[in-house]
Order: sequence, then C-alpha cells, then structure tokens
Amino acid sequence: MQKLYINGEWVESKSGKAFDVINPATNELIDRVASAGIEDTIDSIDAAEEAFRKWRNVLPKDRSKILRKFYDSMIQNREDLARLIVVEQGKSIHDARIEVDYAASFVEWFSEEAKRIYGDIVPSTKVGQTLLNYKEPIGVVAAITPWNFPAAMITRKIAPAIAAGCTVIVKPSEETPLTAFYLAKLLEESGLPKGVFNIICGNAAEIGNTLTESKKVRMLTFTGSTIIGKMLYAKSANTVKKVTLELGGNAPFIAFDDADIALAVQGLISSKLRAGGQSCICVNRVFVHENIASEFANAIVDEFKKIKVGNGLDESVTLGPLINKAANIKISKMINDAVNKGSSILFKSDAEGLNENFCLPTVIMNINDTSLLYESEIFAPVVSIFTFQDEEDVIARANNTQYGLASYIYTEDRKRIDRVVNALEYGMIGVNNVTISTEMTSFGGIKESGLGREGGKYGILEYLEDKFVAIN
Ligand code: NAP
Repeated sequence: MQKLYINGEWVESKSGKAFDVINPATNELIDRVASAGIEDTIDSIDAAEEAFRKWRNVLPKDRSKILRKFYDSMIQNREDLARLIVVEQGKSIHDARIEVDYAASFVEWFSEEAKRIYGDIVPSTKVGQTLLNYKEPIGVVAAITPWNFPAAMITRKIAPAIAAGCTVIVKPSEETPLTAFYLAKLLEESGLPKGVFNIICGNAAEIGNTLTESKKVRMLTFTGSTIIGKMLYAKSANTVKKVTLELGGNAPFIAFDDADIALAVQGLISSKLRAGGQSCICVNRVFVHENIASEFANAIVDEFKKIKVGNGLDESVTLGPLINKAANIKISKMINDAVNKGSSILFKSDAEGLNENFCLPTVIMNINDTSLLYESEIFAPVVSIFTFQDEEDVIARANNTQYGLASYIYTEDRKRIDRVVNALEYGMIGVNNVTISTEMTSFGGIKESGLGREGGKYGILEYLEDKFVAIN
C-alpha cells in the first residue's frame, strides 16, 4: 500500500482508511493509497510551515543544485515514470514519455531560475535615502492538481515554488496519485530537506477545506475544472491567500481557406491525441472555412483511420482509454445531443474488445452553435467541425465562451494573422502550430480559464512577494 509523504516520512493516514487506484485500460487494481483527511492535512501544513523557516534562507545556488539532481533523476527514471503514468492515467506510452520530458523540463528550467531572483534598487526621492525592493518567497504553498498530466501538472508548480524558497503541500488527483508519490521519492533522494515537499491525497473536500481555511497556507495554486477552481478561490478569500488558477478551456481552432491544409490536419491530430484529447489546451471547436471544409474533414478521417486504440503499454497503440467510465458517459451525451440537433457522424472507429472506459475516435460534421459540443470541454478523441464564411463572424464565435485559455489559427496571410491574434480573447494563441506550451514560455488563461501564469520567467514570480525597504 502507498503511504502519504509528510515531513519527510512515509506515513499511514490517521483514519487508517485507504482507496483504490485502478488502471483504466484494464479495470485492474494497481495499488491502494492511504486516504488523508483533516488531521493528515494539518500535519502536512505544520511540517511545511516549520520547514519554511529554514528553506527560505537556503542559498539559491543550493536550492538550484537539489532541483538539478531531481531533474537528472527524472530523466534517469524516464521509462519507469512513463509506464506508471500509462498504468494509472491510460495515455499511450509514447505520449507518457513526452509527458515525462515535458515535466522534467520545468524542473531543469526552474533550477536555473532559482539563481535569477532579482529585486530592484529604486531611485530615491530624498538625498541620503536608499530604496530597495526585495523579492521574497511567499511561504507555505498548497498545490492541487488534476489527473490528465499526473507528472507535469505537479512539476510546473513545485519546481518554481521550491526554487523560490517556498515549501509545498501537493494534493494530486485521487485518479493518479502514484506518479506524484514516485516524484516524492525522487525528490527525497535528491536531498530536499524534510517538510519542504509533502504529498497528501484522499478526501478532496476535507483536504481542500483544511488547506484553504489555514492561516499558515499563504498561497493556493490549483489546476483543474473551473467549477472547483471557483469554489477554492472563494474559500481562499477569508485568509486573503495568493491564488493562481489553471482551469478549463474551450479552444477554437480556425482553419481559413488560405491555410496549409496538410499542416492544419497534422496540428489537429497531434492536439487530439495528446492525453487522448483530455488536455485543457486540446482543440475543442474546429471552425473550417466552408470552401475547404469537405477536403479538411476527409483528411481528418484518413488520419483517424490510422489511430490504434488499446492499452497504452502496447508500443503500437496511439490512443488509450479515457480516465473513467463517467468521462465516457459524458462525451456520449454530447455526441447524442449534436446528432439530435442535426449533426452527422462522418467517422467512428470500429475497434472491438475494449472496456467501457474507451471512447472511439469520432469525427462529427455540421454542428450548430447551440450544441453541447460548442459550449463544453469535450475531453475525448472527438473532432467537432463547424463551418464559417466570414473572418469577423468566426472570431465572434471563437470568443463566445466563458473560457480563454488556448486558441489556434491556420492561415498563410500575414495581415490576417495580425488582425485575428489581436481580436482573439485567449491567454495563448498558436499560429500554424499547436505547440504552445514549453518550460520557457508563459502558460495560462484569461476570463474563467484562470489567474496567473506558469512557466517561463513569469512562473517563479507567482511564488514571490515584494518587500519594500526605505533606508535613511
Ligand atoms: P477537478 O475535478 O477540478 O479536479 C482537480 C483537482 O481538484 C483534483 O486533485 C481533485 O481531487 C481536486 N478536488 C476536487 N474536489 C475538490 C474539493 N472540493 N476541494 C479540493 N480539491 C478538490 O478536475 P479534473 O477532472 O481532475 O481535471 C480536468 C480539468 O482540469 C479540466 O477542466 C481541464 O481543462 C483542467 N485542466 C486545466 C489545466 C490548465 O493548465 N489550465 C491543465 C490541466 C487540466 P480528486 O481527483 O481526488 O477528486
């Protein structure tokens, strides 16, 4: 059984309760995990608070060295980590290897950024006065993460937090906690002092309430659904915590009639295959100019026919199951809704012998804007094609959502790129490509997709506070 990691110790939960972790490709039990509640959460907060007193004063260069060791050991253990991700999350082994590299890249980047936390010397308004602006670690950070990227969603938070001199309590998703505990083992071996990093998992509501109510926790960083993010944001108000939120998306993908169709199709397929379509920046609404719609749709179908669905551990498989049966029921409802509103299913893969967690790759045409596929996160390997005629109209439809995370446009017209980029209300825009997330750039959304940024030179600033000092 997997124990909790609190204050550098592997411990049972106080309640003695545990929960199952299931492989979605086989429905087999992988392991049981100690289930944390209020008392375990308080222990982890106390440990993180105690550790912060020392960790904040550890030289940046020494914090950097520990993170670099952690990075090296993630790379050394790449295959084990990737296989663990496949087993508990379901994605293909190829995709899982990409996730490990992506997750490790944040650790490498922030191990370097630890040494570049600069304050300012501000010009004085009085003779004989020195004005200084320091950057200081914010304190104890609570990080709550989802199941779609069980490694990367954690490292994108803990690497900058630890680099900045903060201490962290991570609560991974109950669906995918084992990757998180594996990362804890590697961090422990890298020499991180006890209490700087803690992992608890179990009763999400009890853990969430305890973390948000605590005065000792100075920051909440959450990645997950907009509904839970809003609730935690509200709960954090009482103690005026710093909050960063990476929430849901509803990414438009606009292919204009001057687009390189082959390039656009390649981009769309790679977005849809990443985590089986279960990523927050996954293409959600595909707007194709009506002049190229049928050529584009047929090209997508040709590519979808090549997808091999199955257990992600099989090297020939390119698409695994969804995270669970509930996710599959949700997408089936969306597809039925579209069909009832006049859409046609252009293609549905016909793989057999798969369990109820698998969603077969599907392409749907002629969708109207009142469909659930227009307004909700699809989170499945389902391509929903809408058509358009006019640039202004498609921009208005693309922006017509509460979300503002990722968006994509394909066009060969330089002036159109400037116009559309200026008009799209999104935190991230991919032009003629879908690779919009790297450790060196900022990641985050506007509107109800979130607050704050992860990655790049911006990511570490979220974990730092300004302290102004005026010396006479
Ligand atoms: P979720 O249901 O909101 O869960 C996210 C995390 O919150 C999990 O650890 C979950 O724990 C926890 N949680 C649930 N209820 C809670 C409560 N009452 N108090 C405290 N924590 C609670 O989201 P998900 O289904 O795991 O992830 C998918 C969502 O994440 C999608 O909307 C996706 O777009 C979004 N996402 C966004 C980004 C981004 O960077 N913007 C990246 C990845 C995913 P349990 O799982 O144990 O219940």
